[in-house]
Amino acid sequence: MMKISLKNLPELYSFIAKKNDLYLPIFKAGQVDFAKWDKDAIVDLNKLKTTKSAKDVFFPQSQDLVRFEVDGKKISIDEPIMPTNKQVIFGVKACDNRSFELLDMAFVEDYPDTFYEMRRANTTIVTLACAKPDEACFCKAYGIDAADPKGDVSTWIVDGYLHWMPNTDKGIELTTEVKDFFELDMDNSAVENQQSEIRAIIDRLPYSNIDLSKFTPDKLLELFNSPKWKALSEACLGCGTCTFVCPTCQCYDVKDFKTKTGVQRFKCWDSCMFADFTKCAHGNTRPSQMQRYRQRFMHKLVYFPSNHDGVYSCVGCGRCVQKCPQMLNIVKVIKTLGEDK
Ligand code: SF4
Ligand code: SF4
Repeated sequence: MMKISLKNLPELYSFIAKKNDLYLPIFKAGQVDFAKWDKDAIVDLNKLKTTKSAKDVFFPQSQDLVRFEVDGKKISIDEPIMPTNKQVIFGVKACDNRSFELLDMAFVEDYPDTFYEMRRANTTIVTLACAKPDEACFCKAYGIDAADPKGDVSTWIVDGYLHWMPNTDKGIELTTEVKDFFELDMDNSAVENQQSEIRAIIDRLPYSNIDLSKFTPDKLLELFNSPKWKALSEACLGCGTCTFVCPTCQCYDVKDFKTKTGVQRFKCWDSCMFADFTKCAHGNTRPSQMQRYRQRFMHKLVYFPSNHDGVYSCVGCGRCVQKCPQMLNIVKVIKTLGEDK
């Protein structure tokens, strides 16, 4: 393991940013989100959870796909600019890091999304252990260890130092490039003590041992037809906040925007909570908010695991627990439907 004093981190950022687009948790407009670093950026590595998740780095909120230029009867196509830049994302928490594996299942495994795939291939992920998980966190329920966050490089902030440990070939490559900024750290005890403290906090959190055993593919129809969805969803505003902050939500739309000289086709986040989501000529396949609400949670807890060897499409980050204006969230669903055993 190696370590660097926190006061020397700006020099490290500056060095990494010479060859890579460097993304960090950055304070801007009243909140902290992952954004591209520059020397004026206000980096906040102490923030437990960015408001939006880290998924934007691979799956941006809006992405230009192709442009059609129309000149009379002539149509020309401008090839899209592919994301070839090397990227480093620094300060990713264990839950967001796991979410990338879930997004890979959606965007790489069956029908690869070239833009997403290229960004994933070009990116080195530097994770950071969560020094103080909060009461909305329940990553442990999904087998995620916030004290050992994995990624290409794992880091821990303890006593004024950032401790650094590479895990993969990409991580070793980055470590070789930046090694002159670090000193060797032969004593792992500071990190090990912090890991024990983190795990002790997590064991005491209210949702850490939430019971997911009810959510199995063989219970699909029973869960789908539960009369409890009505009361669970009644207060839902269909605002989509839960989906936009969620690291594993992956719904998107492809739209055309008419420019002065042609058409710009772009891809943008969408939400299964919106009334016009997947609206077709014949109308909407899920006309009520109850159906839309049920879809979101059935997808995360039953449909996705059915198609992916039992892996849930939730990482327990707790963002929906904290951000829903109506205090509706996945924990409430798990607890309410889980009681039906
Ligand atoms: S569950 Fe909450 S955050 Fe999600 S759409 Fe409904 S009201 Fe909005
Ligand atoms: S459903 Fe909620 S807790 Fe689960 S990953 Fe999404 S925002 Fe986080």
